[in-house]
Amino acid sequence: MGKIKLLTPEVRNKIAAGEVITRPNSVIKELIENSLDAKARRIEIEIEEGGKKKCLVNDNGIGMAREDALLAIERYATSKISDVEDIEKIRSYGFRGEALASICQVSFFDLETSNGIEGTRIEVSGGEVKGIFDSHRPMGTRIKVTGLFFNLPARQKFLKSADWERRLVSETVRVYGLISFNVNFTLVETDRTLVNLSAVTTLEKRLKLIYPKIVTDHLIKLDQTTNNVIFNGYFSQRDFQYRHALNYLYVNFRPVRYPRLYRTIMETYENPKNVPAFLLNIVIDPSQVDVNIHPGKTEVRFRDERYIADLLTQAIKKHVFNRPSPVDYSFPDPKAVTSFTGTVRREEFVQEPVIAYDPASQKEIPTTRESGVFWQLHNTYILAQTKSGMIMVDQHVAHERIIYESVLKGTVHGQRLLFPISLELTPEAYEIYTKTKPVLEELGMEFKEFSARTVIIDSLPSDARVNREDIANFFDEIGNLGDLMKEKSEVAKVLACKAAVKAGERLSIVEMQSLIDQLFACENPYICPHGRPIVIKFSLEDLATRFGR
Ligand code: ADP
Ligand code: MG
Repeated sequence: MGKIKLLTPEVRNKIAAGEVITRPNSVIKELIENSLDAKARRIEIEIEEGGKKKCLVNDNGIGMAREDALLAIERYATSKISDVEDIEKIRSYGFRGEALASICQVSFFDLETSNGIEGTRIEVSGGEVKGIFDSHRPMGTRIKVTGLFFNLPARQKFLKSADWERRLVSETVRVYGLISFNVNFTLVETDRTLVNLSAVTTLEKRLKLIYPKIVTDHLIKLDQTTNNVIFNGYFSQRDFQYRHALNYLYVNFRPVRYPRLYRTIMETYENPKNVPAFLLNIVIDPSQVDVNIHPGKTEVRFRDERYIADLLTQAIKKHVFNRPSPVDYSFPDPKAVTSFTGTVRREEFVQEPVIAYDPASQKEIPTTRESGVFWQLHNTYILAQTKSGMIMVDQHVAHERIIYESVLKGTVHGQRLLFPISLELTPEAYEIYTKTKPVLEELGMEFKEFSARTVIIDSLPSDARVNREDIANFFDEIGNLGDLMKEKSEVAKVLACKAAVKAGERLSIVEMQSLIDQLFACENPYICPHGRPIVIKFSLEDLATRFGR
């Protein structure tokens, strides 16, 4: 007889339930999401023993008809999507139709709901319906879950202390409470109120309820839309150090973990010792983000991660770092006041200079070949003519982008150096070298080891402009990456920066032309790997307006 047999439905259901529901906190999270999806304006949560003994969520949402309530506890029963394509358009928190079914499987479950027409109460124990009754309650739904994992002792043992579980639940209530600021949330544990958030009209007011001091003094509002991607939230000032964690990330109002974006934020702040304080909601067309990665729905992935990361860096630099501190007690500069003529404001001269990167739009490639005209400004910027005006390109970041993309794609091969660079590395630098050597070789560098700690660099990505000093700094900078030094793209950024032509270096016409041509052959010619703009555009229209034509 064969060894493989199909699992019974009972075992299958328990396994599936364990993926969605891992602890009291996941019960609370799923029930809050359902209440929000049901458009509740008030959500009352009660727990006992951190939720291990009891989790209860009561809302004033749209409730359910009896027929729906009975279906709701079945697996894959949902009112939120009907076919696979709908996942691409998802705007609700739920869509998998698994939460209630999973909770029912592993607890004593008591649901009471009313849609304003009929009221129903259903009792379920370990997945088995024990009773269906009429109920009289106002519109809304109340779900009580007791004895979580009573029939899965292994899971129950895995739970931590009541204190620990309570902290997780409180944090979850806060996370949803912050972003749904117009909903009243309370969390009570045996008569002790742990969270009480009254409904308010703005995110700022909600944030202030929880973090009164920091918001007023140190957070800067970000409200920025670029190419249909909205960044909405608050970020701490560049140099502000906040000891506590205030890091909330949402995508389309869904709280998410997204390490790549955390890293982007850290990098934009130039890797400070403390994580900057922020609350960010990224609103984007649901088809551009995959939420169906894990049953817990806390992980999402953007279709074009790099693009979103670049836009975010650009938005923070432009709108957070460039903004004066929110509390500005400084007196106006008397000179500025006296020279003010009252006719024009400075802002009127400031146009929207950076070209947003839109992968769908056509790049406007400079008409270099036709005109052959370039001008290098202060040996740092290149001016070139385009069809609709002119552009100014920062030569260093442009070159950085070119090298970065080409080393990552592996389209550049190492170029053998006529005069290999020999370096005696410090013990620290030598350790970094041994750790990152495989990555560096992939990026087109070649090494020979000489005697102890002396390394000879034989080959560099073609087109690199480096000297001994650059290479010595190079290992220091890679060291600053910490754990990220094993990541090819991170090392590539450092390499690109060191190998790129510097500001202040004179370029010939041919070099400028080649730089511009290569730049516009890049996937993203507008933002450097660290998030700085590369190109500033001046359209003929802008110029005409300024000259009053
Ligand atoms: P999902 O949220 O993924 O649809 P759930 O198992 O969490 O799956 O819920 C199943 C269905 O039950 C939902 O689609 C919704 O129609 C209904 N439901 C659950 N909770 C509530 C609630 N608090 N108010 C109204 N309807 C609810
Ligand atoms: Mg749900």
